[in-house]
Amino acid sequence: MEKFDFILLGGGVSSLGFAKRISEHGFSVLILEKEAVVGGLSRTLLHNGFYLDFCAHRFHTNNKELLDEILTLPGLTMEKHIKKSRIYMFGRYLKYPFEIQNLLRAMPLHQSILSGFSFGFNMMTKGLRKGRELKSYKDWFIHLYGKQLYKVMCYPYTSKIWHVDPGLISADWANQRFQGENMAKLIKRILKKIVTLDFSNYNLQDDSLAPDGGPFYYPLRGIQELPDALARAAVKSGTKIVCSAVITSVNTKDRKVTYTEGGNQVIVEYGDLVSTIPLHQFYTLQDQKDKEVEDALAKTKYMDIIFIFVFLNQKQVSNDHWLYFPDTDIIYNRAVEFSNWSPEMCPPGKTSICFDITTFENDATWNLSDEELTKRTIDDSVRVNYFERENVDSSYVFRVKYAYPFYDLEYKDRLDVIVKFLEGEHVHLLGRTGIFQYNNSDNSIEMGFKLADNYLAKSKDKSIYEAKVKAISY
Ligand SMILES: Cc1cc2nc3c(=O)[nH]c(=O)nc-3n(C[C@H](O)[C@H](O)[C@H](O)COP(=O)(O)OP(=O)(O)OC[C@H]3O[C@@H](n4cnc5c(N)ncnc54)[C@H](O)[C@@H]3O)c2cc1C
Repeated sequence: MEKFDFILLGGGVSSLGFAKRISEHGFSVLILEKEAVVGGLSRTLLHNGFYLDFCAHRFHTNNKELLDEILTLPGLTMEKHIKKSRIYMFGRYLKYPFEIQNLLRAMPLHQSILSGFSFGFNMMTKGLRKGRELKSYKDWFIHLYGKQLYKVMCYPYTSKIWHVDPGLISADWANQRFQGENMAKLIKRILKKIVTLDFSNYNLQDDSLAPDGGPFYYPLRGIQELPDALARAAVKSGTKIVCSAVITSVNTKDRKVTYTEGGNQVIVEYGDLVSTIPLHQFYTLQDQKDKEVEDALAKTKYMDIIFIFVFLNQKQVSNDHWLYFPDTDIIYNRAVEFSNWSPEMCPPGKTSICFDITTFENDATWNLSDEELTKRTIDDSVRVNYFERENVDSSYVFRVKYAYPFYDLEYKDRLDVIVKFLEGEHVHLLGRTGIFQYNNSDNSIEMGFKLADNYLAKSKDKSIYEAKVKAISY
């Protein structure tokens, strides 16, 4: 029976980051991935000559060391971009992140006056609310922008994505998604732009354009280049990767994993196990059982996503990376045009757009046929003057489960119970899906590096799960 120092369940970027770092220090690693390729949510499909990301994946990090390590990975072709996006509201395409002046002008006059006053009042009284705990995303947003702008800027799009009122989403999500430092920058930028009457700056020096980062990097042929480059580096240091592996059980007492590969059963032994697969799946595969954990898992959910890719016989539809669509009579949330990410993503003279719909498996939308989803997507796009019907060549629908950890108000208490139970001296959880953390890919890789560093430093407590997330207050 083969034995590895580490066995990793799942081959997404968190797992590959961990494998790269730890195998470079001489440890033996086995990665078991269920799909035919590595990459997980940071994968790229190749369909009729089009490279298709899951809604595109910009790479952005404030961690200089991480950025240097990623940019110098052999074979990875990262190009620098500035995020360009707009949002469709009031029947127009507005700049996004919002320029307050641009937004106020598009609104009906009475709403615009109310919002302007509410924003100003909110800015002036912010100091008085210092230290107050912000529990929900709604609390967080109103604290920054005021009640009126919440109704316009936050409620429609957020409730459309998550299918619940933003008052029922934990403020942890905002913290994880936007990160306090950049929000402060964004507010300063808004105020500066109002004062200087400067309303459209898309130059490479402006790194405060979006709350989640202005400049970003993107490979020439889709984000798949990133996991592939990490995998090559890990394999070069001795990591073994088995794709299309079906894991059938994890015996934490004897430290063994059983899986099938090409129909053959294989049993392997580990020193330590790292799981990056969905919490519910890992619980089912491993041998320890507990009623309280099962109850917590039953209430803990991931959101699923449907991608509708539309292929067009034209070079470009708009020059945006992203377009956001909060109106509920439009079936999709966002549109990403791949030819704006790299000319190599589409065959010459053609472009492709990814539309996404967040949903839960087996709800009404999930069960719509591919034909119905495509028809609604094209009809809605034509209605909002996004593209013309006669330019549509073909389409492709792809469903992905476990796409988003769902942060309801009580998620953290349940997660504490689940993680405490599943982790042990020789078992750790990792990554966006594995540890239920709303991560971007840079955070996931960083987490992988951090866990490996904890092993290398022989830390007593190696877990990277923060048992106590600080209450968010500003
Ligand atoms: C729509 C969307 C857009 C995004 N956009 C961006 C972006 O622009 N920029 C950015 O940085 N990040 C973005 N992200 C986030 C990014 O995709 C993730 O942070 C990152 O890919 C997570 O990597 P991970 O390794 O933590 O998890 P995952 O990618 O989920 O890895 C888990 C792996 O486990 C495998 N697995 C699952 N079950 C099993 C099993 N039973 N047996 C074996 N293997 C299994 C999966 O196939 C997968 O490979 C986006 C995510 C989504 C969903």
